[in-house]
Amino acid sequence: MKNCDVLIIGGGPAGSIAAANLAQKGFSVEVIEKVDFPRFVIGESLLPQCNEILAKNNLLEKVTQKGFILKAGAIFINEAKEVETYHFRENIGEPFNTSFQVKREEFDHTLLLGASEFGANVQHGVEVTAYNEVKNIVSTVDREGNKEEYQARFVLDASGYGRVLPRLLDLDIPSELKTRQAVFTRIENDIRPEGELAGYITIFIHGDNDAWIWVIPFADGITSVGIVSTEEYFEKMNMEEEAFWNHVIYSNVNTKERFKNATKVRPVGKIGGYASNVKTMHGKGFAMAGNATEFLDPVFSSGVTLALVSGDLAADLIAKELNGETVDWQTEYEEYMMLGIDVFRDFVNTWYDGRLQKVFFSPLKKEQYTRSISSILSGYVWNKKNVFVGDSEKKLDMLIKMIDASIK
Ligand SMILES: Cc1cc2nc3c(=O)[nH]c(=O)nc-3n(C[C@H](O)[C@H](O)[C@H](O)COP(=O)(O)OP(=O)(O)OC[C@H]3O[C@@H](n4cnc5c(N)ncnc54)[C@H](O)[C@@H]3O)c2cc1C
Repeated sequence: MKNCDVLIIGGGPAGSIAAANLAQKGFSVEVIEKVDFPRFVIGESLLPQCNEILAKNNLLEKVTQKGFILKAGAIFINEAKEVETYHFRENIGEPFNTSFQVKREEFDHTLLLGASEFGANVQHGVEVTAYNEVKNIVSTVDREGNKEEYQARFVLDASGYGRVLPRLLDLDIPSELKTRQAVFTRIENDIRPEGELAGYITIFIHGDNDAWIWVIPFADGITSVGIVSTEEYFEKMNMEEEAFWNHVIYSNVNTKERFKNATKVRPVGKIGGYASNVKTMHGKGFAMAGNATEFLDPVFSSGVTLALVSGDLAADLIAKELNGETVDWQTEYEEYMMLGIDVFRDFVNTWYDGRLQKVFFSPLKKEQYTRSISSILSGYVWNKKNVFVGDSEKKLDMLIKMIDASIK
């Protein structure tokens, strides 16, 4: 049996930011990561809120040194060729207004190496298999079949899609969001916009909101291109993944131009049923962060932001608790996280029912709401000065009604 202050399951963004935070505070941290890094994972577009958390944990410089392309906004284009561009600098006064487009294999590896340099002990090729929540003992097994047990003062589950504690403790609940899927690849030789817009993410709406396409440019000229649709839409097409990708990209009025010279540099992949939820984000001696809690949808690139914010906040609260202070995990952690998650959820819901696109492409451009939306798209979903933070469903509803009335 080994001992540590904090055992972290998973070395993705949630786990590595928590490890970096706690190691710098002087705690003994054990990170158990199932696979070797660098490893491929989808989710390549970051938001300015990420930079704030990276800076807080002394990791922003390391990430900047990697030379990732600067992302300073998001472009939305529909099949009528209407274009709406959000520049992150046009926000309501947030501290950061740029972020990066990253190959996650490089970004995640940089963060985990950073955590290790700060003193966290990182083990690759070791899997968490069991958890005794009464004694706070975690069981692991390595690739050779060697078993180990860890007595931790606190356990943080940052296992992402692995959802280790939700599964072991029966905390998983289905997401309320409709099941969607993504078909994606990486290509070279696309025709990018010029100047600073070259680093923006572009979201193309396909058909009558049947699907949408992400276009994420990387610094080395490679571009990530993925199509998100409902499972029914994919099945109705009755095609293999690659044929589906080709069909959508080359039938879309916008993407067929942008990718006319493109060649794939990676096989087309598919991921589905990724939306997930949990009964609770914490218990006595343990908490969950990042995708191991609730994952909504990729449309506003919120996943890594939520992973970094939750990993960092959980680490601050773990440190407080291990230092003998009382922590109210429900209000200080779960309710805080839910404030931001709920904002993204309302934006996701109005995106899929088509009403948010009405806002985006409305001729009625009000600087005041455009700045508020830009802050949300930058990942600043906890800033209560933003009209959309807290009761965002109602606020979006009011805005949409106002736009409807102006059109009549
Ligand atoms: C189609 C799609 C597109 C997306 N696009 C974006 C985007 O553009 N921007 C964005 O911000 N987000 C995006 N996301 C979401 C984003 O990828 C995730 O939210 C993010 O990776 C979550 O980070 P994490 O640290 O919680 O988990 P992960 O990054 O999944 O890391 C978890 C780690 O835990 C390890 N692990 C799992 N089980 C075990 C175990 N039993 N023992 C030990 N280790 C274990 C895994 O090997 C993994 O390395 C997208 C998601 C999808 C599905």
